[in-house]
Amino acid sequence: MRDTYVHVVGGGLAGSEIALQLASRGIHVVLHEMRPMEVTKVHTSAMFAELVCSNSLKSNDLSNAEGLLKEELRMLGSKLLQIAEKCAVPAGKSLAVDRKRFSEMVSEALWNENRIIIRRELIEQIPLEDNTLWVIATGPVTHRRFAGWLQKLTGGFLHFFDAVSPIIYADSIDMQKVYVADRYGKGSGDYLNCPMNEEEYEIFWKELVNAETVEVHDFDKGLLFERCQPIEEIARSGKDALRYGPLKPVGLLDPRTGKEPYAVVQLRKENREGTLYSLVGFQTRLRWKEQKRIIRLIPGLEKAEIARYGVIHKNVYIEANRVLDDFLRLRKHKKLFFAGQVAGFEGYVSAIATGLFVAFNIYRSLSGQDMTSFPRETMLGSLVNAVVHHEGTLKPMYANFGLLPPLALRGSRLEKRLEMSKRALSAIKEFLDSEGKAWQTFRSRSALTS
Ligand SMILES: Cc1cc2nc3c(=O)[nH]c(=O)nc-3n(C[C@H](O)[C@H](O)[C@H](O)COP(=O)(O)OP(=O)(O)OC[C@H]3O[C@@H](n4cnc5c(N)ncnc54)[C@H](O)[C@@H]3O)c2cc1C
Repeated sequence: MRDTYVHVVGGGLAGSEIALQLASRGIHVVLHEMRPMEVTKVHTSAMFAELVCSNSLKSNDLSNAEGLLKEELRMLGSKLLQIAEKCAVPAGKSLAVDRKRFSEMVSEALWNENRIIIRRELIEQIPLEDNTLWVIATGPVTHRRFAGWLQKLTGGFLHFFDAVSPIIYADSIDMQKVYVADRYGKGSGDYLNCPMNEEEYEIFWKELVNAETVEVHDFDKGLLFERCQPIEEIARSGKDALRYGPLKPVGLLDPRTGKEPYAVVQLRKENREGTLYSLVGFQTRLRWKEQKRIIRLIPGLEKAEIARYGVIHKNVYIEANRVLDDFLRLRKHKKLFFAGQVAGFEGYVSAIATGLFVAFNIYRSLSGQDMTSFPRETMLGSLVNAVVHHEGTLKPMYANFGLLPPLALRGSRLEKRLEMSKRALSAIKEFLDSEGKAWQTFRSRSALTS
């Protein structure tokens, strides 16, 4: 393996996980990243593994599918998850990170690894004639010239739109009007809450539905990603939609009144210093001047200064179910792997997870073993299975309990989920035990180099 180089295109979440995992196994990697020479509409730095929107890697709870996937990744020795945990910021039951520190730490880990060569360059196409292994992890904003080449290679491309939430400066928040509370008191006071009464909510809602949005070429409401709907689209579906969605007040008692407000806009810390806050669930495609105007209608944010505006972006991905095999390889070019969002997996944690999955199988293949799927009882195994065996038009897939084989059990939804998580984690343990020494070494070296 000493003379083998694996080429990874894209130094995002999936590509960084792959590079670090392979290098820790003694495999040389060339990591191609087009930033900063080429910019994207969603990345703002030249760092690796940049989180483009929320700073949250979602819940840690085992009754939550993302929580289960993260626990599996911990057991499998994910590099990026270890780093995320080192730069976590308080966020109740969720794992949220200081986004700058996170991408700095991932970048340092990549720079410090002497088996990784970093090439800052745009890849426009891949030479298919030689025997080199390539992994494509170019994400939702794959460069258009490379996307054109991929489209020809795979015979088609899909897309959808999603949006980013604004971030505001902490010192522009009126702390007299907001209050600290976590939903149902679960957490350590990590969120700021801007309470609205009925009148304030109605004004906010009316202004929001009538506010000017950015015209997006090719924009089609039907292609908005359901988990990342712009707030103005949610508002348009009905007057109370926000109160039952991102502005839900349930479990957020205002300590000054002892009551739940009519609606609440939550703010989550963006960095350890607490100088920046993001508006939770506030992804938007409003024009920038409109974003400022609408945000300033929220109690406590009348003087809010925006550090980063929300934007909408077109995400592209291949029809993975038509062209990839069980190991995320292109069926017609077995030297070409895909991971992360470009392969049809949605979300930060899925990108890290599929990066680890691909690294694991490349390692097996280079050490003379057969590639393998992960058990179906595990969230990672089921997630990969759901994408590559999807029937019909593929929609970006993320961890959810519906992907797991059903469990014959009477009980509440919560009890069933916890039982499924228990089953998944013992399946991972069994899988690791049966993998024998090779995987154990993979795991322990991953932990050692953290
Ligand atoms: C606007 C938006 C908001 C999102 N918000 C969230 C969110 O809040 N929470 C969540 O969980 N997920 C979110 N996602 C979904 C998504 O899972 C993340 O974007 C995640 O970062 C995907 O990881 P990735 O590794 O696949 O891609 P990325 O992290 O984007 O990495 C891909 C890398 O490839 C590079 N690249 C692209 N083309 C080339 C090329 N031809 N040559 C060389 N380098 C190239 C890019 O510069 C980039 O660094 C969002 C996506 C978008 C677009």
